[in-house]
Amino acid sequence: MHDMLSRLATTDFPPIARGTTETLQVNVGYKCNQTCVHCHVNAGPTRTEMMGRETADLVIAFLTSPGIRTLDITGGAPELNPHFRYLVESACALGVHVMDRCNLTVLDENGQHDLPEFLAAHRVEIVASLPCYLETNVDAQRGKGVFASSVRALQRFNRLGYGKADSGLTLNLVYNPQGPVLPPAQAPLEADYRRRLGDGFGITFNHLYVLTNMPIQRFGSTLVSKGLFEEYMTLLKGAYQPANLDTVMCRSLVSVDWQGYLYDCDFNQMLGLALTHAGHPRTHLSELFERDLAGSPINVRDHCYGCTAGQGSSCGGALSQEQ
Ligand code: SF4
Ligand code: SF4
Repeated sequence: MHDMLSRLATTDFPPIARGTTETLQVNVGYKCNQTCVHCHVNAGPTRTEMMGRETADLVIAFLTSPGIRTLDITGGAPELNPHFRYLVESACALGVHVMDRCNLTVLDENGQHDLPEFLAAHRVEIVASLPCYLETNVDAQRGKGVFASSVRALQRFNRLGYGKADSGLTLNLVYNPQGPVLPPAQAPLEADYRRRLGDGFGITFNHLYVLTNMPIQRFGSTLVSKGLFEEYMTLLKGAYQPANLDTVMCRSLVSVDWQGYLYDCDFNQMLGLALTHAGHPRTHLSELFERDLAGSPINVRDHCYGCTAGQGSSCGGALSQEQ
């Protein structure tokens, strides 16, 4: 794995500052049942980093802070953390909206068979990766058999009401390009997904989020190995849209790692680029109670151009539909 931070450190990305924090995005561990080539976490079955009960309790306590509306749980495969269901149940009891970034194939893992029913019972919003509606493309990027497993999982979620009008159970899909190119426009691709998954498999969903691949971790390192890193950075910078700066997700989200340390976003977490606040080089969630991050500078580097290129990119998909 190449060191990506040193390649991204010299940057002319504009300085930006945090706004009001509304979302706590918690990475509960880097273990995953998959090893996708585009993974910005470098997640996989052999990763051992896992949030413990003490940090999970801290997260739950923090959810009572003013302004926090959403707990966004990510990983790895977050459901593999033994405290995942405790986090969901506790957040729901506090009236906090919960999102689960689900890779779909985790439903086939031991102990996860009742996961869809659990998520539905707690009205958890599902954000599910499906980088294409074609089996060959998905299996090439995410592993053999992943497409078939994902289709089975989506059909199960649909049977519970997920992705159906008026059910209140939200199922969003996530697309990212297969290689070092910008993603296509979100709205027409969403229409294609709806048609292909609907006609082929009877699958329905709420929205498709189109994400740009970030030049970090496994994806960034692969670009370096193939001699494509500079070319990809030139592409991202050439497509820079200043209008996207106002809505990049780090304005309103704070990312928490498995040990409780804070970052401006999950990408910065993977680069080890800590959130800096009040002059401290690193901040722990336990230090954030009663503190307001609004106005704090965001730790930007060259990878940030991945969020502002073209239609823009965030955990909630494109930032603008007009590119
Ligand atoms: S992209 Fe998602 S599903 Fe794939 S290895 Fe990374 S965390 Fe796991
Ligand atoms: S990479 Fe992170 S810090 Fe940079 S603009 Fe995107 S969300 Fe903000």
